[in-house]
Amino acid sequence: MKYCHHCAAPLALRIPEGDEKERFCCPGCDTIFYSNPKNVVGTLPVYQDQVLLCKRAIQPRVGKWTLPAGFMENGESSLDGALRETQEEAGAEVAVSDNSLYTLFNLPAINQVYMFFRAELLSLDFDPGVESLEVALFREAEIPWQEIAFPVVRSTLEHFFADLREQHFPVRMFDVHHGEDRSITTHLISRS
Ligand SMILES: [Zn+2]
Repeated sequence: MKYCHHCAAPLALRIPEGDEKERFCCPGCDTIFYSNPKNVVGTLPVYQDQVLLCKRAIQPRVGKWTLPAGFMENGESSLDGALRETQEEAGAEVAVSDNSLYTLFNLPAINQVYMFFRAELLSLDFDPGVESLEVALFREAEIPWQEIAFPVVRSTLEHFFADLREQHFPVRMFDVHHGEDRSITTHLISRS
C-alpha cells in the first residue's frame, strides 16, 4: 500500500499515537490503514467413507490436491463462504448439519485463519471450476498423502478419518508454526 485511498497522498509507515504497531498513515487526511488477518473458509465434502478433493489449477501448489476453500468475501458468513467456494471449485452441491464446524487453524506467520466445515455431498455430479484441474472422491487408503497442497488440509483429513472410525467429530483448533528452516508444525490448542 503506497497511496491513500481517500486523498491519494503518499502513505507513511509509523506508529500512531496510543498504538504499539506500525501502520500505514496518511499525512494528508489522517486516515490510518489497518492490516488484519484474512479468513480462509472451506468444506470437507463427504460421501459415505470418501472425501472430495480438488486438484489445484492455480498457484501456489499447482497440481496438488486440496479441500475446496478460499478467502471469505465481505458481507458473507464463514459457512456461506465455505459453501460458495465448494460450488466454485468443485461444482459440488452439499448439505451441512448444525454441528458442521470441524477444524480451525491459526497461521500467525502468514496472517491467516482457516476454517473447515464438514459437509455431506448431495450428488456425485460435481464439476471442476476454473481453479481446479480435477475433482475426485478418495477413500482413506487412496488419499495421495504426498500430493496434498497444504498442512491444514492434511491435518483435517487425518483427523477426519480417525474420527470416522469413532463416529465422533469434535471441533478442534490448532496453531500452525512456521519454523525458520521452513518446517511447519501444527499444535492442537482446543477441542470440544
Ligand atoms: Zn488521505
